[in-house]
Amino acid sequence: MSAYDDHNHPHAAPADGVEPTRTAAGAVPHSPANPSAPTGGSAVPPRGSAAGTGSEASSADAQAEVGGESTAAGRDVPAAASAGGGPITSLSASSAPANPSGPTGGSPDHGAAVSPVGGPDARVRVGGDCVIALDVGGTIIKGGLVAPGGTFLHTERRATGREGGPEAVTARIVDFADDLRRTALAEGLNPRAVGVVVPGIVDAAAGIAVWSANLRWRDLPLRDLVAERTGLPVAFDHDVRAGGLAEGRLGAAKGCANFLFLPLGTGVAGAFVVDGVPYAGAQGRAGEIGHIIVRPGGTPCGCGARGCLEAEISGPAVARRYAEAVPGGHATAAEVAARVGAGDPVAARVWEESVSALADGLLIALALLDTSLVVIGGGLSRAGETLFTPLREALAARATVQFVPRIEAAALGDDAGCHGAALLAWDIFEVAR
Ligand SMILES: [Zn+2]
Repeated sequence: MSAYDDHNHPHAAPADGVEPTRTAAGAVPHSPANPSAPTGGSAVPPRGSAAGTGSEASSADAQAEVGGESTAAGRDVPAAASAGGGPITSLSASSAPANPSGPTGGSPDHGAAVSPVGGPDARVRVGGDCVIALDVGGTIIKGGLVAPGGTFLHTERRATGREGGPEAVTARIVDFADDLRRTALAEGLNPRAVGVVVPGIVDAAAGIAVWSANLRWRDLPLRDLVAERTGLPVAFDHDVRAGGLAEGRLGAAKGCANFLFLPLGTGVAGAFVVDGVPYAGAQGRAGEIGHIIVRPGGTPCGCGARGCLEAEISGPAVARRYAEAVPGGHATAAEVAARVGAGDPVAARVWEESVSALADGLLIALALLDTSLVVIGGGLSRAGETLFTPLREALAARATVQFVPRIEAAALGDDAGCHGAALLAWDIFEVAR
């Protein structure tokens, strides 16, 4: 199965109900190159105005849906001590390159044991403060205990259990948050706050998950439910905007105040970061770039319109277009990208059509927000320069009054949402104390 399938295909998720299995994986490179980067900045209000999007085009949807996994960033823990469900006996920090997987923007598989990077200076004193971060995706909830500076001390994934309905999903989220609190305490850490980010329509100010097609909840007061259970202050927001916040403070857009974070996966939605703050809009639906109509009368979109960017260029859209061009043919978006590199003329045509549609949509977004940088994440970003080079050329060829921004791969990969949840949690802790 290709990387795109891994990241986009709904069936790539584990069977719901699979309980996490602890595995020693050494230090996992969740943290940015600069672990001392400020996390308690005042640029972003902890609980912004109403936030949300009308689609499920979340960063989580574009993520590797590997479930039933738990890793402890315990580089000093002998593998035998943690494997098979043994306790974590010590915690230490890991640091990682800002872009751990190079120009393609991918991230390492979570299940893989990854050698720690960073020396003794990166160690975190046991007993230090941490926050609990939860990134709820369509099929997987990613959780972590995160130290100041963005270092993950513990990570764990669980299935959402969405087949059990929204009540079951809610129970799993709340249980997960509380279990992470207990894990933190058991390890001598001080959990200070919780950050929860979710897809769909989100009212961040009210702490309510308004709607999610995949998770089927409506007007769920998730922030308060988690707060009641854990007894901790809870920050709550939208997953793509949280991802944008993280890329801005820790990742590919570090140092850039105005940029667009655009995960391209099964869904397409963006986060406009304006003066360092992800912009939610008046109704919390800003950044719905996936529903800019780029091909009037074109492919039907899940939103009810035709020719939306999401319907024309998402991973499934690229695969479908290839299947239409090659009778009986089947290729994932990743395979189409690979065939472009191999000189397949049909793949090249399909790819060019997709890049063209993306450039048309992006140009509209740039006309509205005039960013100097576009950070592209999600499964499609793994095509690397096969995507970025023609995209830059297409933008340059089309731009009139628009500034042609830099196009960069996301640095935090699948962890952007979880990093963002942690940053939001640190923000409310800093505000509260
Ligand atoms: Zn649409």
